[in-house]
Amino acid sequence: MNIKRSPWLLHYDGSSCNGCDIEVLASLTPVYDAERLGVENTGDPMQADILLITGGINTQNAPVVKQLYDQMPRPKVVVAVGICACTGGVFKETYNILGGADKVIPVDIYVPGCAARPQSIIDGIIQARELFQQRSDEHDALMRSQKGAANV
Ligand code: SF4
Repeated sequence: MNIKRSPWLLHYDGSSCNGCDIEVLASLTPVYDAERLGVENTGDPMQADILLITGGINTQNAPVVKQLYDQMPRPKVVVAVGICACTGGVFKETYNILGGADKVIPVDIYVPGCAARPQSIIDGIIQARELFQQRSDEHDALMRSQKGAANV
């Protein structure tokens, strides 16, 4: 796929044990260097195109995760990193865990593992980058067609 845009990543720790977060940081820093793929880390959801979320969803963080997702501009892509973010993982049966990130927001790509390995996280980022490009192309085509219809 021809990648025309460099998506920005937002990393959010739901309720992880920090194991997956360490691996996300390893993926973004020079050893694994996900930025060589043209992505950029940001702390601002309003500038982010891809959300990397770790940890399960609990009653306290559910509204935070939803708000972060809503603040991101369209098109956007969500990657659940680690089995906790995918399903709730080892904490699934505990009293306050609702489940994986898809309990509150749409998840596009699931990266399993406990912890998720940097190689798997980078694979998830590559998939997210391609999906983001595809959605951007569809969004641009829709904008062009609406503009054309308005000019008729
Ligand atoms: S998947 Fe494993 S390493 Fe990652 S947050 Fe859950 S328990 Fe921790």
